[in-house]
Amino acid sequence: MHDLTEGVARFRRDVFPTKARLFAELASTHRPTTLFIGCSDARVVPELITQSEPGDLFVIRTAGNLVPAYTPGPDGVAAGIEYAVAVLGVGEIVVCGHSACGAMTALAEAHDLDAVPAVADWLRHADASLARTGTPGTAGTAGTAGTAGADVAALVRENVRAQLTNLATHPSVARALAAGGLTLRGWVYDIPTGAVEQLAPTDPTAVPVA
Ligand SMILES: [Zn+2]
Repeated sequence: MHDLTEGVARFRRDVFPTKARLFAELASTHRPTTLFIGCSDARVVPELITQSEPGDLFVIRTAGNLVPAYTPGPDGVAAGIEYAVAVLGVGEIVVCGHSACGAMTALAEAHDLDAVPAVADWLRHADASLARTGTPGTAGTAGTAGTAGADVAALVRENVRAQLTNLATHPSVARALAAGGLTLRGWVYDIPTGAVEQLAPTDPTAVPVA
């Protein structure tokens, strides 16, 4: 098991001194340029795959990188979005899905989620994503892992697009979009190759980010 205490010691000894000026500046400054909404999956590390420095990204990570459509009331995801857009003034929001996403796999293959009711409830926020890709569970009955993988990949992409649509229902996002001060991007990160594709919201074609 990874020793977190040893990691902190190594950070303070080897890493912090090399960025001391940056951290001194960040002590009183918080001006991220991007709100990055990714999956909680441990393999998807926003700062690593974008090679960002501390202070660059305001990050929200949820299971399945889901962004519930706006509804009034206490909501941690909505509060984070509003703070990033209306207070910090980020200029772009990236919603990043990824290959082999456990949440999308559970939906695409219609896994039994009775033992994890909170997960099942949360994943209802992907209902529209699922509706766009067809009937859940067909991948499993098709009988080949390749077909199942393809269906999960399709759902991952449609889910990113659906979350971009949900994002636009948040008043702070809608205001910033109307004012022309905000760009929304949909990405998909491929774990085995490190590739990142950018999805056009209304166009199914994907192009590499870099
Ligand atoms: Zn995931």
